[in-house]
Amino acid sequence: MSRFFTSRYAGLTPYTPGEQPNRMEYVKLNTNESPFPPSKAAEEYTAKFTRALNLYPDPECRELAAAVAKMCGVEAKNILLTNGSDEILNFAFMAFCDEDHPAAFADLTYGFYPVFAQLNRIPFEEIPLDENFCIRVEDYLGIGKTIFIANPNAPTGICLERSKIEQILQANPNNVVVVDEAYVDFGGESCIPLIGRYSNLLVTQTFSKSRSMAGARLGFGIACEELIRDLNTIKYSTNPYNINSLTMAAALGTLSDPDYTQRNCRTVMENRAYTAGELQKMGFEVLPSSTNFVFAKHAKISGAELYQRLKENGVLIRHFTKERIAEYNRITIGTREQMDTLLETIRRLYGGIL
Ligand SMILES: *Cc1c(COP(=O)(O)O)cnc(C)c1O
Repeated sequence: MSRFFTSRYAGLTPYTPGEQPNRMEYVKLNTNESPFPPSKAAEEYTAKFTRALNLYPDPECRELAAAVAKMCGVEAKNILLTNGSDEILNFAFMAFCDEDHPAAFADLTYGFYPVFAQLNRIPFEEIPLDENFCIRVEDYLGIGKTIFIANPNAPTGICLERSKIEQILQANPNNVVVVDEAYVDFGGESCIPLIGRYSNLLVTQTFSKSRSMAGARLGFGIACEELIRDLNTIKYSTNPYNINSLTMAAALGTLSDPDYTQRNCRTVMENRAYTAGELQKMGFEVLPSSTNFVFAKHAKISGAELYQRLKENGVLIRHFTKERIAEYNRITIGTREQMDTLLETIRRLYGGIL
């Protein structure tokens, strides 16, 4: 730390992203990216756009907002596009949390929530998941805090029914409830149909996971017009050009080819069922997943060791050190070939004890 770094941020622990090795030396199952390239249409649209890079992008992202709104069955005024959904989550902490509106989220959830809370100096409560890693709805009723729920949750993969979220919305009418649907396309139940009825609901989604565009950084929020306006106040006070032209072009291409996205999601779900089944045959306990990853542990293999030995053998998965989940690993679902490599490597390393 330099002597110039202000005391405001000196104690901040930043988010730790999963490893992004420069050379493709690993079977990479650690950051929940799509194993499939973006739609061909994304490439075509982007190629056409490069000649307009001398101009600033449209700060309102009108064309893309209209396309996203159509996909979601809402109007463009209900959409805000951001630089990854991480950005809209940060905007939500800035816009809807303060000393009087502390944040609340699960003890085991997306690691960025406590970082955003600290960054914005917002007090927060971590509410423990139950012994099956599920949200206990009762813990969220009338708590008078701004609530963040990843649904389906990461790193557990478990989803909560929409009716339960509706209970939480009803019981906290004076607080915003943010539902982070980064993984919803892999089997979750979206809360978008609720935005017309709940002025305190903000749903966030992303192009990073199901739409093969993690490198382009594009996320979006869906909410009533007033919440979107508040979030725009934050956006125009930080970075009006938060979506670059190439990303907008690529996203329009991706949205023009919905069958491709759907097919890929189906393949991921099939590969997930296969991988979970094979892991279970080897004695792993695998949590029920509605995402593009599985969360698994084995009674005879420590979580940290499995992570390390797989890495040494060319397979990268994600291990978290938090005590409650230290024996688990989060394994992204890739292609069938990638999953077979993972499974064969585990068999080769641990064949004797499985
Ligand atoms: C991956 C992820 C995000 C954000 O991804 P972006 O690439 O910033 O859109 C948000 N929430 C959860 C729970 C995630 O796993």
